[in-house]
Amino acid sequence: MVTDIPSMVRALSRWRGGPAIAGGPSFVDYEHLLRSGFDYVVWGEGEISIPKLINVLKGNSEPAEVPNLIYLSRGRVVRNPGPSWVPTPPLWSYMPSVDAVTSYPGWWGARVYVEVVRGCSNYHRPTIPLPNRKPCVGCGKCWGGTLKERLTCPSGIPPGCGYCSVPAIFGPARSRPEDNIVREVRELIKLGVRRVVLSAPDFLDYGRDWLVAPEPLTDPRNPPPNLAAIESLLRKVTSIPEVIEGEAHVMIENVKPNLVNEEVAELLGKYLRGTPVHIGLESGHPHHHVALGRPSRVGEVIRAVKLLRKAGLKPYVYVIHGLPGENQQVVKATVKVVRKLWRIGVEKITLYRFTPIKGTAFEGFPKPPPAIKSVARPLYNLVRKLNYVAKRRLVGKEVKVVGVSYDPRKEEVIAYMLPHGPVTRVVGHGVGPDLVGKVFAVVVRKAVSDRVVEATLPGVSRNN
Ligand code: SF4
Repeated sequence: MVTDIPSMVRALSRWRGGPAIAGGPSFVDYEHLLRSGFDYVVWGEGEISIPKLINVLKGNSEPAEVPNLIYLSRGRVVRNPGPSWVPTPPLWSYMPSVDAVTSYPGWWGARVYVEVVRGCSNYHRPTIPLPNRKPCVGCGKCWGGTLKERLTCPSGIPPGCGYCSVPAIFGPARSRPEDNIVREVRELIKLGVRRVVLSAPDFLDYGRDWLVAPEPLTDPRNPPPNLAAIESLLRKVTSIPEVIEGEAHVMIENVKPNLVNEEVAELLGKYLRGTPVHIGLESGHPHHHVALGRPSRVGEVIRAVKLLRKAGLKPYVYVIHGLPGENQQVVKATVKVVRKLWRIGVEKITLYRFTPIKGTAFEGFPKPPPAIKSVARPLYNLVRKLNYVAKRRLVGKEVKVVGVSYDPRKEEVIAYMLPHGPVTRVVGHGVGPDLVGKVFAVVVRKAVSDRVVEATLPGVSRNN
């Protein structure tokens, strides 16, 4: 899932003996990867292609028989055709390795993502003019067509928000069977994982596809969330004894703001009180927001944040700078909305720089300069300031953390806040390597930056 080609090439330089395969899914410049030494690139999801590719590696078949495989043949790049997404089955017939998590440093304190939904229901298209593509002919299918009609655009514009690769690469939202998810969460917690994130491009798509099956879920607004499916899943994962005891925490990832209503917020609050929930604003300009292909309106983002906050969750908001169509008015409008969201009670704002991704509607746009050197500078400064203020609000509070590493030179333990929060540097009397792997209380003494705080063990001041 990496879009960072330099890291992929660096990883390859350490790979010894054996074919090098990127993906699936891979959705980057595959010609670059092949030129850099990768033997095969699997475009899109791996569930169909990888087992067939293993057969090729065993010498039992030819690369031409593997769907969505990209490789060099006589110096020419060959891209095999294949399905746009993996159907069910075989989609959920593979159980992810649980033990593999222990090979990551600090895994016991890390957030471990358990997939609950694959793909995204947003099949809107951006209305911003796109380089190297035919313009929208205004057929209206992607906004008002049947679920099947929304899959294809007569102008060939990829689906979803223009900057996002999820619908183009992973297809419409498909929910994982509940018992499969619960089993994985239970096994991870048994192993010692303390933070589990139920991962989905939109958690509120969970079970919505079952309401429209066998049609594909390509409408991001209708039907409303499947409350029965969501409640059943949340009830089961929060009934795991370690979660009841507070030794492990379950969170969700993203929600589409337009799917949040009173009932949804109440339900999430019932099971996930005190945990973060991520909401995309991306652009606070009403026209720009919609022109990006978003499923929501700016007002729905504000409403969702209000409702989720009221229900006891901690809303985190995403914003993107450098997007196509950005100008001073867009930045000004986004700054205004960010301030408003802050007053309502957003806990954290994450500002990303737009990156053109292959296969998306915005792939032909250039990568913008850093925010500090662009029209988005006021937005960057505001986000940094607000995130820093949020960290300062923690000063004096006692919080629970899990120790992940010890630096003997600085005599400090790096710890993660539970269930979620800034990276915490624990210093002062009583701090040693024995805290690594343990859950313990600390008192926050100082905001080091907009992302890091410093803390001591309770009863210890910063100076002793
Ligand atoms: S499906 Fe394509 S052509 Fe039709 S309205 Fe959407 S973007 Fe325009």
